[in-house]
Amino acid sequence: DARTSMLSSSVERRLDNFGASSVLFYRAPIEMVEAKGAWMTASDGVTYLDFYNNVPCLGHCHPSVIDAVSQQMAKLNTHTRYIVSIVDDYIDALKRTLPNELSNIVLTCSGSEANDLAMRLAGKVTGGSGFIVTECAYHGNTAYVTEVSPSAMKKGVLPPHVIAIPEPSTSNYGVDIEAGFAHRVKTAVDELRERGVKVAALLLDSIFSSDGVYYQKGGFLSSAVDVIRNAGGVYIADEVQPGFARTGETFWGFEAHHVFPDIVTMGKPMGNGFPMAGVATKPSFLATYCQDVGYFNTFGGNPVAAAAGLAVLNTIESQGLQDNALKIGRYIKDRLLDIAGQSNIIGEVRGAGLFFGIDVEENGAPSATLSIQLIDQLREQRILAGAAGKHGSTLKLRPPLCLTQSEADFFIEGFQRAVRALCDNPNRKGDL
Ligand code: PMP
Repeated sequence: DARTSMLSSSVERRLDNFGASSVLFYRAPIEMVEAKGAWMTASDGVTYLDFYNNVPCLGHCHPSVIDAVSQQMAKLNTHTRYIVSIVDDYIDALKRTLPNELSNIVLTCSGSEANDLAMRLAGKVTGGSGFIVTECAYHGNTAYVTEVSPSAMKKGVLPPHVIAIPEPSTSNYGVDIEAGFAHRVKTAVDELRERGVKVAALLLDSIFSSDGVYYQKGGFLSSAVDVIRNAGGVYIADEVQPGFARTGETFWGFEAHHVFPDIVTMGKPMGNGFPMAGVATKPSFLATYCQDVGYFNTFGGNPVAAAAGLAVLNTIESQGLQDNALKIGRYIKDRLLDIAGQSNIIGEVRGAGLFFGIDVEENGAPSATLSIQLIDQLREQRILAGAAGKHGSTLKLRPPLCLTQSEADFFIEGFQRAVRALCDNPNRKGDL
């Protein structure tokens, strides 16, 4: 019909414009026109509950960010070589959320730039060049950061200065994840040494998002961090995904592990959609680094970004969004666990606050096919979701932190129907 042909011409236009770099969700991609709160509206008028995009942490098009950005844009926006008080107001506010030792902040425009700088800082202060990451990690798109992002490599073999270790799950390390993971970090340090490479850093997403979301109350990273420090390396916490209160339990993901990173990188939700990111570190690290190279970023830390960032921090606090993430997150997780108990296509349910990883299985084995079908079924229920993990079989869910009880119920009911639709599929009966 007319709608389908209009959509297919917009897909064609997209492919013409973006070429092979185009990545679109769904076989029949959705054309979005606007969004508000937790909801996105497509060009055919259908509204979707956004359970995937963790950038709009306050909710899409949040008025506090719109006002702050518009007012600052109308007043002053400039590169970073003048003093502008709102920028330092923002840095001061951000620092209040971080350990005292991490008292220098460099603002960038993307998480990739933040990790790129973090890696260069680590290299300079340790004199090492080796990096240890997890097997499905994603840390960004610069040349340097792509080398430590196994999930971005379609065929690639990691360069010799990078070792990717299995994600911290019980299936990889048994019940004592902490000891098993630390031991694996130790063997990775030794492997690097055998290759003639001194380790610079252990670089970890604090909630292992692209590995499939791994979280455990009390954490499991403390021993691994001791190992890396004893080997002369530093620990970089990539907070691009779990940061800014998403886990509900703590403001930053690393806090759950009771560890102090040497460097923290952040991005995605930092400006609620305004592109901004940053690195927090020790003054001595930056002093060492800047002796040789220096760092300049034209747009990083511009006054409009600072206004957006300040609005995000203020709104998380004034609207109690961390508590909301904890409360609504627990409610959803309990319901998901109920559903998992009743269905043999749902395996482990992991995560904290409003960050979930749900294993999709067929006959007890991870199934990417089924997870794609579930994502399609969720779309039918007007819920947006995505997948992660080494098999692509883990559902990754990250709704805005402002999610309400009734939106949580909308999700649970839709999720139940989607699971039921898959289990009732006559082509699958008997297999499940
Ligand atoms: N680190 C992690 C954990 C990420 O998920 C991402 C983006 N998906 C990045 C870094 C890179 O951030 P950006 O896309 O803003 O460069």
